[in-house]
Amino acid sequence: MSTNTSALDLIIIGGGPIGLACGLEAKKKNLNYLIIEKGPLVNSIYNYPANMTFFSTSEKLEIDDIPFISKNAKPTKQEALEYYRRVATSNALNINLFEAVETISKQDDKFSINTSKAYYTSPNVILATGFYDLPNTLDVPGEEFDKVFHYYNDPHYFVNQDVVVVGASNSAVDAALEIYRKGGRVTIIVRGAKIGDRVKYWVRPDVINRIKEGSIKAFFNSEIIEINPDAVTFKDEIGNPQTIKNDFVLALTGYKPNFKFLESLGVTFSDDEKKIPSYNEKTMESNVKGLYLAGVICGGMETHKWFIENSRVHANMIMENII
Ligand SMILES: Cc1cc2nc3c(=O)[nH]c(=O)nc-3n(C[C@H](O)[C@H](O)[C@H](O)COP(=O)(O)OP(=O)(O)OC[C@H]3O[C@@H](n4cnc5c(N)ncnc54)[C@H](O)[C@@H]3O)c2cc1C
Repeated sequence: MSTNTSALDLIIIGGGPIGLACGLEAKKKNLNYLIIEKGPLVNSIYNYPANMTFFSTSEKLEIDDIPFISKNAKPTKQEALEYYRRVATSNALNINLFEAVETISKQDDKFSINTSKAYYTSPNVILATGFYDLPNTLDVPGEEFDKVFHYYNDPHYFVNQDVVVVGASNSAVDAALEIYRKGGRVTIIVRGAKIGDRVKYWVRPDVINRIKEGSIKAFFNSEIIEINPDAVTFKDEIGNPQTIKNDFVLALTGYKPNFKFLESLGVTFSDDEKKIPSYNEKTMESNVKGLYLAGVICGGMETHKWFIENSRVHANMIMENII
């Protein structure tokens, strides 16, 4: 393991849109910064479903006012990958890819950062690690089978298959509609009483109508209780167990930030189920001096609260405070 001896002012963990925004802002302020990303550039977006389109228009996804030209009203994943790549390469951002930050400790006023490849020290650290790495699990027997996915990519995999989609938010609804349209037999199983209110306004009527006409089956107020190799058993709305034939389960029930990692750094949280990390809303500095939070990680379990549109401003707020 190598030791990085150059004096860094700032380490940014996470090379997602907000980590990149922080890098751009640090560069403008002449800070000696390094972005460390455990996967490819904008890893989360890289792993989004192949056919996804953003709900934001392209100018709302721009960082540092660098124009994002899209030929569609709502940009696609591929367009976003092109945009963030051009932003990173044209601005020669200092970023190490495929290097995971493993531990961080603090002594006096310096953080020691151990990664899968090197060791660094820095007086300031920004955590822009998002929440897309840790899915909310179902915690039912059979969840460990290979046929159960917590990420969805492409509908063609599911042609002519019996697929259960768990959840009723944007990701679940998009997957259900795409798979149905490629010939998969889709059953949605949802804990709540209806399709989520935050589902994109131009998609919601589509799924509701497919359910009404019976093209997609849906069980509301229902919960999976067991997954078997060729079946799924769930409790329906009157509490009766029902077993249906099944080839694949897509458990698209959301994701959560890495709370253990935040805790190991001494970050505290709100004392409720939202688990919102403690930070100063003007500077984005956490309760640990010199440790800043940026991007969607700030929302704790409220993962819908922050997104690119409204969290790109964190970069400027943090850099103003650091300098
Ligand atoms: C399907 C979908 C559609 C969306 N549409 C929109 C939209 O239209 N508009 C909008 O504003 N937002 C949208 N969002 C949300 C948006 O994508 C996220 O808000 C955005 O990616 C958050 O950026 P971020 O930089 O905070 O986190 P992320 O993009 O998640 O980046 C975090 C990065 O940190 C890296 N990382 C994590 N742990 C470590 C570690 N230990 N060491 C090194 N690196 C690490 C990860 O690999 C990742 O690249 C959407 C999300 C989804 C899932």
